[in-house]
Amino acid sequence: MSDRDTLLEMVVALRARLEWYRETGAELDAPAAPSRVSAPPDAESATARAATPLDDDQTAAPVVRDIGDDVLVSAEVRAAVTLPELRAAIGDCTRCKLAGHRTNLVFGVGNPNADLVFVGEAPGRDEDLKGEPFVGRAGQLLTEIITKGMKIRREDVYIANIIKCRPPQNRNPEPDEIASCEPFLVRQLAMIRPKVIVALGTFAAQTLLKTRTPITRLRGVWTDYHGIPLMPTFHPAYLLRNPAEKRVVWEDIQQVMRALGLLR
Ligand code: URA
Repeated sequence: MSDRDTLLEMVVALRARLEWYRETGAELDAPAAPSRVSAPPDAESATARAATPLDDDQTAAPVVRDIGDDVLVSAEVRAAVTLPELRAAIGDCTRCKLAGHRTNLVFGVGNPNADLVFVGEAPGRDEDLKGEPFVGRAGQLLTEIITKGMKIRREDVYIANIIKCRPPQNRNPEPDEIASCEPFLVRQLAMIRPKVIVALGTFAAQTLLKTRTPITRLRGVWTDYHGIPLMPTFHPAYLLRNPAEKRVVWEDIQQVMRALGLLR
């Protein structure tokens, strides 16, 4: 590559990065850690259960680089402006060790202009086979929450995961895998710019919010994710094992519906 090409790549990357800061409202010098917000409209719920970063929780997801701190992402990925461009830029990804285990990379699915984005952990077996997030048993429950509970269509929201390839035996994603993959989700969220994000389960909530606070304390409390209200709630797979918890998830979802004007 000539010096001129290298310079051009740097300019493109810098421009994309500045756009990201403008779009997300993140601080230029110090990428903001998400802060607690009292709530979007009508969701004046308790802020008393504030997240305590670095709580000593043994089950915590590993904490990785700050959101937006995506220096390892290639110029092509940074330059992508639309979701299809981003998908093309990710390509037949071999950036982490999960590449050798996957059948399909699971990019994300839904409305690119969605008001609501659900973020899960990582694809499971069904998702890996189909190349679409949340299509297994947990996915069916999520689809019911969306269609029967919220009374909107699955294709009207956007659904993605922190990690785009299935970890072997559905083990927890590891820090290097998160570091490789999370910047893609960050780009997706910056492109969609939804009104609300729902983080499904411990891993998604802790990774997005850069905290080790347990999901039992995070759930049900609005948090700010770079200017976007974020509601953590339990993962549908957890609900399959603990159906009694569906009640509190429904409360969280109702808060989301109120914020979106879907419920008074
Ligand atoms: N669990 C997740 O977190 N994501 C999926 O896509 C499927 C199951």
